[in-house]
Amino acid sequence: MPATQRLTELGEQRSQIASRVAVQRTEVDDMSTEIRKAEADVAQVRTRRVRDQQRLDTGAVTSAKDLESLQREIVSLDRRISALEDAELEVMERMETAQAEQRQAESELAALDADMAALSETRDAEVREIETEAAGLRDERDRAAVTLPPDLLALYERVRSQHDGVGAAALRQRRCEGCRLELNAADLREIAAAPDDEVLRCPECDRLLVRTTESGL
Ligand SMILES: [Zn+2]
Repeated sequence: MPATQRLTELGEQRSQIASRVAVQRTEVDDMSTEIRKAEADVAQVRTRRVRDQQRLDTGAVTSAKDLESLQREIVSLDRRISALEDAELEVMERMETAQAEQRQAESELAALDADMAALSETRDAEVREIETEAAGLRDERDRAAVTLPPDLLALYERVRSQHDGVGAAALRQRRCEGCRLELNAADLREIAAAPDDEVLRCPECDRLLVRTTESGL
């Protein structure tokens, strides 16, 4: 059934996208850990920067040498804060890109899920149709079977069980429709000469052979 085949294809696409989404989620998680770490680092340096500034403002440091060293440290802390913030911004930008890709893949997944749900319904309807048709054919077969002489029916069932479920075949254009082989002239002459009620067998596959108006005899 075409719906089943299409469902298999979509299922493969879905699992590819789903694994892409899983990788993206891990990447985004890693980046947000990285950002939290950078924020904690910045906060730590800022605390120290505030403490240094207070020491400077309160005039607690009086020696010129200590004062100079404190000012140098403040400059260095400012540079460190700026570098950490730049790094954090860079990660945030990468994370935004990754999140946009993730949202895109997730919406592809949602669209695929909707397509697959609709296709499943189509497939189920097709299956129901085939089942109804098969049930009709089984009824028809049962009605036909009771009209056959029991010994012929038994023979047919035996041959059928030995030949992939096909116990009888039509002879059409000199060809057995069970094994698709063309019968030779001698066999065809014999079949043509046989009485109408004689049960014939295909010389090639041994199935019951049914003569028709198109047998080519
Ligand atoms: Zn045959």
